[in-house]
Amino acid sequence: DYRSRSAYKLKQLDDLENVISGGDTVVDLGAAPGGWLQVAAEKVGPEGNVIGVDLQRIKDLEDPDLAERVETIRGDMTEDRTRERVLEAAGGDVDGDTTGPDASGGPVDAVVSDMAPNMSGEYSLDQARSLHLARQAFETALELLDTGGDFVVKVFEGPDVDEFRADVGDAFQYVRATTPKATRDESSEIYLIGKGRITAPIDAGD
Ligand code: SAM
Repeated sequence: DYRSRSAYKLKQLDDLENVISGGDTVVDLGAAPGGWLQVAAEKVGPEGNVIGVDLQRIKDLEDPDLAERVETIRGDMTEDRTRERVLEAAGGDVDGDTTGPDASGGPVDAVVSDMAPNMSGEYSLDQARSLHLARQAFETALELLDTGGDFVVKVFEGPDVDEFRADVGDAFQYVRATTPKATRDESSEIYLIGKGRITAPIDAGD
């Protein structure tokens, strides 16, 4: 049983573009109540790990095998100190990527963000807040991702989304926009998938 209907969206996004593989280190932004965390923990398998971040406390996963692969952080992703904690949590679990041919890459294989603002009911305001959260997720992804790593981010449709999509496209081999079938019909959310981080991110080590 998944904790949220959203879990099926991550499954569909992953079926489409294969963003999470066995052994991966995954960062899940806006992770409460934990549906995406469950899916990500299943997909990374026993050799992988998942870091979930949310403003809300995230209850430990019930399945001990999955819980073992998951670490949660309670914090606000618009604050630098939360981003530093995520970086630390990811760096503390480096899987060898800081040495070898792709040493310039960060420690993370996929950053996925389902963050959404509290709804005010005024669409232009909610949309602007959604885009702000999506850009925060993008900045975090640029800091954390290894070369070749993937990025998934939710954003509400609106006039500035094309520009954001282009910015994501500059940092990845390609970017694709999609609306998973599990999304409610009346919703105006879309997901952008950036495949294959191409430029070495800021060196998180040393
Ligand atoms: N993917 C989750 C799941 O499957 O259970 C559902 C995520 S829910 C749609 C959006 C989440 O984004 C909320 O839990 C909310 O607290 C979180 N969120 C919103 N703004 C945030 C911020 N600034 N920092 C961290 N989390 C945030």
